Amino acid sequence: MDGEERFEGVGVSPGVAMAPAFVYRSAELRLPRRTLGAPGEAEGEWSRLRDARDSTARDIRRTLVALDLETSGGEGGILEAHLMALEDELFIKELRDEIFKMGRNAEWAVSEVASRYAAKLRSSGNELLAERAGDIDDVARRLLQSLMGVDSTPQFSFEGRRIVVAGNLSPSETLALPRDRVVGVALDRGGATSHAALLVRAIGIPAVFGLGNFSSRVRSGDEVALDGNGGVAILSPGAGETGRLRSMEAERGNLVEMARRRAAEPAVTPDGVEVAFLANVENEGDVAGIAASGGAGVGLFRTEYLWLAEGRPVAEERQAEIYTAMARELGDRPFAIRAFDLGGDKFHGSASVGEHEANPFLGLRSIRFLLRNENFFKTQIRAVLRAGAATGRRLDFTIPMVSDMSEIVKTRELIRETADSFARHGVECIEPRLGIMVEVPAAAVSAAAFARHCDYFSIGTNDLAQYTLAVDRCSESVATLYQPLHPAVLRLVRGTVEAACAASIGVSVCGEMAADPLSAIVLLGLGVRTFSMAPAAIPLVKETVRRVPHSEAARVVQIIEGAATAAQVRHFARGVLARFAPEILRQC
Ligand code: PEP
Ligand code: MG
Repeated sequence: MDGEERFEGVGVSPGVAMAPAFVYRSAELRLPRRTLGAPGEAEGEWSRLRDARDSTARDIRRTLVALDLETSGGEGGILEAHLMALEDELFIKELRDEIFKMGRNAEWAVSEVASRYAAKLRSSGNELLAERAGDIDDVARRLLQSLMGVDSTPQFSFEGRRIVVAGNLSPSETLALPRDRVVGVALDRGGATSHAALLVRAIGIPAVFGLGNFSSRVRSGDEVALDGNGGVAILSPGAGETGRLRSMEAERGNLVEMARRRAAEPAVTPDGVEVAFLANVENEGDVAGIAASGGAGVGLFRTEYLWLAEGRPVAEERQAEIYTAMARELGDRPFAIRAFDLGGDKFHGSASVGEHEANPFLGLRSIRFLLRNENFFKTQIRAVLRAGAATGRRLDFTIPMVSDMSEIVKTRELIRETADSFARHGVECIEPRLGIMVEVPAAAVSAAAFARHCDYFSIGTNDLAQYTLAVDRCSESVATLYQPLHPAVLRLVRGTVEAACAASIGVSVCGEMAADPLSAIVLLGLGVRTFSMAPAAIPLVKETVRRVPHSEAARVVQIIEGAATAAQVRHFARGVLARFAPEILRQC
């Protein structure tokens, strides 16, 4: 054992990793809020703020010169807009008032004025003004970083293969992980379908979250082992553990290797039911590897990651370029672009989406945010239509977090208006098929009615489980209650599939359940015939489908009618896997 320490958490990405740790601490902007008292303090704060403003403006000018950017549009235009915001008289006056009249320190003044100012711009009803709100957010972030002397770019400064250990990782930090060197991730916090979790799964490396105080016990360079299946992290593993994990790793390696070799073959159950596999992607580059993993196209492009990666709204031109390039690469294979799903745990690096709400997952998230900030939404719709026109193909456009029919109707209206205005300018575009994420119980319960207004359903079981069970998908403290196999969730999935079939529209599942062999059997039994998941997960789930007769999986329908717990459903699915694919069961 020699000093080995074991930490139990939630396995969020399967597999085994053994490597030295890199302990990451995020450079969070913890705003110092202070009420000014002493005489002259306000002058001092005002002068700090002016210095920060000058140095921010200098930085922006330097970037413009260094990159030789045109200032009329694109990146250069954005930076120019930042400079203008820094010089905006009303903005400066409000900052001054916060310090001199309200007696607040510089950081507090900036965050207060920026969120007020951005909210005012967004609700102005004037599209041009509303577009400037994002600039205000960005400028505020730059000012705060300068005031506090912080560089908030995530720093993963290490050589060689490492397991990243941290308290928590935001989606943007997870995006910044150096994929060529990180072999595993261990976090104190987070649940199985937090966005950090699904990004790690997309990289295809083992991860364990919800490990309590693990990151404070580990130092960079310490040997760490992760068992992503069992949800265990071991500090300084002894010879016994190392041997056990190595043999697990070898068995998984052989199985995955065999499944990868067959990845391109169709997935048909022994009794002849065919299942289609699509990929969930987070950026343009992910498309290249899809075919090799056995994916027939893209079932979910989480476009908000473009925004998160850049830390600000993505210009229409850039979006159109990305969607067009991806559509070209995919040819006539399916391509579903999901509208920006911002909010919840996905913020765009500033304070304006839901961050100040008590329950951001129940707040101004996804389609609610987009319909409140139509300028962002219209930019995305225009970019999608431009990609359709440039490639001459029909794309799929998915609306996230729909809870009310009006959200579908309004989106369709915006698409029509945009297409009409393109037509008036001589650009004929093919309107995308419009689909909705069924991920709020209201949408699942009203699926038959909603099906009349859209072209397909994409079932988001990550959120559907969270909202049905009232369990935060990101929280480690209620992680054991987060059970996508709960019969209540499964009944909603089944009802949605039935409604889609009755209305003859397409239906797929793109939540993380689809990527787990055990849960995939259950979904197959409930009638799901299209799965979308991280490309790395496709080969093993395809192999599972090839082994398990549909007639066996379909017995789950009776189980969920009689069963009251997720454990009963899990027991059933384990029994099926034990009979038809025991070596896959050992990896679940
Ligand atoms: C889901 O909720 O299942 C889903 C696929 O969307 P996301 O995980 O991005 O919220
Ligand atoms: Mg979702």
